[in-house]
Amino acid sequence: MLLEARHLVKRFDVGGGLFRRAGQVHAVEDVSFGIEPGRTFALVGESGCGKTTVAKLMLLLERPTAGEVVYRGRAVSGLSGGALTEFRSEVQAVFQDPYSSLNPRLRVGRIVSEPLLVHNRMSGAEARKRVDEALEVVGLPRAAAKLYPHEFSGGQRQRIAIARALALRPKALVLDEPTSALDVSIRAQILNLLSDIQEEFGLAYLIIAHDLALVEHFSHETGVMYLGALVEWGPTQTVFDRPRHPYTQALLASAPHPDPDHPPPGDVIRGEIGSALSPPAGCRFHPRCPHAFAPCDRAEPATTDTGQGAWARCHLLDAGAPAPVRRGEPARAGAAGRPA
Ligand code: SF4
Repeated sequence: MLLEARHLVKRFDVGGGLFRRAGQVHAVEDVSFGIEPGRTFALVGESGCGKTTVAKLMLLLERPTAGEVVYRGRAVSGLSGGALTEFRSEVQAVFQDPYSSLNPRLRVGRIVSEPLLVHNRMSGAEARKRVDEALEVVGLPRAAAKLYPHEFSGGQRQRIAIARALALRPKALVLDEPTSALDVSIRAQILNLLSDIQEEFGLAYLIIAHDLALVEHFSHETGVMYLGALVEWGPTQTVFDRPRHPYTQALLASAPHPDPDHPPPGDVIRGEIGSALSPPAGCRFHPRCPHAFAPCDRAEPATTDTGQGAWARCHLLDAGAPAPVRRGEPARAGAAGRPA
């Protein structure tokens, strides 16, 4: 395994003012997964479910409250100094917004070479050669190095951001919504570019995305997060074709259908995501779950092997699984699986 999350927990202290008791945001609770070289693991879930915090933990931009980030078999959460710089040169990030992630006052050549000069202490000539190579990999001409970010389209800017990450020859990329700020017509080009790069260089990807069609197309494994915790995970095709957790079923049912004539999905997940300041006891999804029954508001569900390499956390799976919901259909209250 190249990059692993092992039982990651992240809590943020909040409040503590004159009239407010201090509290803790339970941003990430016991999240574990691993990514092999050449593979893509996707994290999906509603806004506020903690997936971006997981990305920051994996990049060591945040330190875990408990648990460990493991890189090439070595615990790295506590790295500092030169060892941290070395880790960051091997695990790079591409962020959502190519408009704000590139310094508008610097030429592209400087933007792409800056991490090289910081991390690798290479000569100017070596850095220029590496910049030319990185621009070529992302399909931009060498002449692009002399231009400024505003002279490029959104898709080209994201290519520059990818070139900047690749210049260090990383082993893994954390892709935080890498196409959501781009036109639909450009998204496929960037995803194809990322796929080609992965195939050529064997990079491991962690992708954070809310576009489920993108995730199904692009990732090998998927983890579904709800209120800081993973509720279901496994091979992407298994999770998408045979979702076993009611939240995964509802999330997939909410996704827009590729057929424009298909009726809109409507509001299939009732209520709002709960507060991470005081997550519900038992199963965190129970206030919104149409299948909730006796133990759900008291006992945390155990992790259950649901077959075909997938896992889920739901009490229903102890007593008979809910019927899979076909994509585009709402998850119905009282569907099969509720124990008598
Ligand atoms: Fe959670 Fe219970 Fe619903 Fe399963 S059935 S998702 S354990 S509330």
